[in-house]
Amino acid sequence: MRRPLVVANWKMNGSKQTNSQWLQEFAGLWQGQQNAEVAVCPPAVYLAQLQQALAGQAVLLGAQDVSAAESGAYTGEISAAMLSEFNCRYAIVGHSERREYHAESNAQVAAKFVAAQAQGLVPLLCIGETLAQREAGETLAVVGEQLRAVAKLAGVEAMTRSVIAYEPVWAIGTGLTASPEQAQEVHAFIRQQLGGVAQDVRVLYGGSVKPGSAVELFAQQDIDGALVGGASLNSKDFYDICRAAQ
Ligand code: PEP
Repeated sequence: MRRPLVVANWKMNGSKQTNSQWLQEFAGLWQGQQNAEVAVCPPAVYLAQLQQALAGQAVLLGAQDVSAAESGAYTGEISAAMLSEFNCRYAIVGHSERREYHAESNAQVAAKFVAAQAQGLVPLLCIGETLAQREAGETLAVVGEQLRAVAKLAGVEAMTRSVIAYEPVWAIGTGLTASPEQAQEVHAFIRQQLGGVAQDVRVLYGGSVKPGSAVELFAQQDIDGALVGGASLNSKDFYDICRAAQ
């Protein structure tokens, strides 16, 4: 049985004050009595604030990115060991905004994946096609290539210590959610690509998930939860999505 997982990706949003309010509101709603696992990925400068606020709560912490390097002259980077010090369980790697705005290649994403696991973090690997790629019928080829690049470097067995998020780029922050059938088709393909370890890997969907679309998405056989951007900024909306993952 794969435990459902819902992850908030706050991206570059928040402030000490609004984080604190969100945490208070969410803690009042989410008592940890539920079956689903929940994690929050704030901007790195707020990890200490969230680590403190989440102590003893059934909400895990994650980072939005991690360096492929261990330490040294990498200005602006944050290592996996540093993230571990703040009790991070997850580290997002390969988010499409990093692939697009920071030109991260499949090889760099794979190196980040390996660096995260080396420090005991669980990489949350984002893969997904652009609209042009979908319209050209290349969705499965693109997703398969993104997945293979990581499995080749890390080894297939390492995928069991990771979470995969299928995030069609055209659905991220656009309000366009993939239909449950579109998402399920790609999730089933991802699971098939994982071969013998397929049943042990959680595969999340991400892309404009809202409380109203979550239930149907989570009802799909191969969707184990969600990576949520925009809707995670509102504590009640995020709570409703988490509840839908029960
Ligand atoms: C994301 O950034 O991972 C994401 C899914 O964003 P949104 O929910 O806003 O589309």
